[in-house]
Amino acid sequence: MTVSLLDRRHATLGRHSPLFYDEPVHLVAGEGVWLTDVSGRRYLDAYNNVPHVGHAHPRIVEALRSQAATLNIHTRYLNERVVDYAEALLARFEPGLDRVLLTNSGSEANDLALRIATQHTGSRGVLVTDCSYHGNTTLLAGMTTGLATHEPLGEHVRSFAVPDLDAPANRARRESDVLAEALASVDRAVGELAASEHGVAAVLVECLFSTEGLPRVPAGFVSGLAERVHAAGGLVIADEVQAGLGRTGARFWGYQRHGLAPDVVTLGKPLGNGHPLAGVVTTPELLEEFGSRNEYFNTFAGNPVSAAVGHEVLRVIDEEDLVANTVALGLRIRDELAPALAAHPRLGPLRGEGLFFGFEVFTDGSREQPDGPATKRLVEAVKARGVLLSRIGPTGSVLKIRPPLALREDDVPVLLEALAGAVDELDG
Ligand code: PMP
Repeated sequence: MTVSLLDRRHATLGRHSPLFYDEPVHLVAGEGVWLTDVSGRRYLDAYNNVPHVGHAHPRIVEALRSQAATLNIHTRYLNERVVDYAEALLARFEPGLDRVLLTNSGSEANDLALRIATQHTGSRGVLVTDCSYHGNTTLLAGMTTGLATHEPLGEHVRSFAVPDLDAPANRARRESDVLAEALASVDRAVGELAASEHGVAAVLVECLFSTEGLPRVPAGFVSGLAERVHAAGGLVIADEVQAGLGRTGARFWGYQRHGLAPDVVTLGKPLGNGHPLAGVVTTPELLEEFGSRNEYFNTFAGNPVSAAVGHEVLRVIDEEDLVANTVALGLRIRDELAPALAAHPRLGPLRGEGLFFGFEVFTDGSREQPDGPATKRLVEAVKARGVLLSRIGPTGSVLKIRPPLALREDDVPVLLEALAGAVDELDG
């Protein structure tokens, strides 16, 4: 009897290693925004944000190959690759944010950012949203509110709700009222921490609110949150693991949509286009303070191969005009999808920006009750039509569309037709 790949996987990785779909997709190749499964079937990838400039991009493959064939070594020797990359990366930030510590994952970056904040402030207290995910270290598991973890929420952690103007309870309310209520709840969380033995070290916030389901937050919420944390002596850490590197279009970083001036920015996922590369960007003062107290060394982080790959990703984004592409295709999809959603009784309005968007699915035409199971069926039905995407939000009721920025004009009808067909099936 032959043992299936799935059985072999369970026997080695265990049964809980997450897999998408009722029938897992067995992939063997990728190119641009297209993936090929073991039977030769091609899928449009409208989910993955790691292969930012496209799967198996020849320039990224060549950058990796040629540096790996020359030298790969940790950062305790001089080599120009890491410095060249650091200069190119930091040039994308506002003046002041001009130091970087490279890491291998977003989790490591957030963990390190929290160490910087706790050492700078002398406090331990951290604020996160009530449906957040920032990584899988012990520290971060103790502040995860949006994913199953056995770790209890740390005593030094407080969470706050993110207001959504499109939530059923807010639809008929004035934006200013929703904002005032949300900031009052932030005030309570900050006040509680400040009065506790923990004090306020930082808010760790992902300004697109992906795990939260891309809510439409009132203008002034994110800046109001930052003001309150700063006033309590804490730092603002912007988690750009998902929102960064042109994902939201015209502004290169997600926090810039909110006019935020973070003290620390954490990076990950798309930075190495699939190669493990992440980092923490901060001010010279904060890095100096941290560095003077800690000998921070990270064996693989910032090695010449990673740096060559990261640098090539930045060049490809520029030379292939991928930010302009993100703006143009994001708007085109919005223009075509928004009216279809408005006309459908069970679907909410389009959320998100650039090439990261979604819409909520409801149980019926009153659009009151989010419908996670129906959203799951929609994801399966879209897959059956050859397009891969997913779902997010506290109850998994928001469809998540997040293709590589290498999406092309010709791919847009493929995505829209699969969505239209799957939505028709939802009705049937
Ligand atoms: N922050 C955010 C916003 C993320 O989405 C993730 C990963 N899903 C992380 C941090 C953790 O990154 P990694 O998996 O690279 O550790």
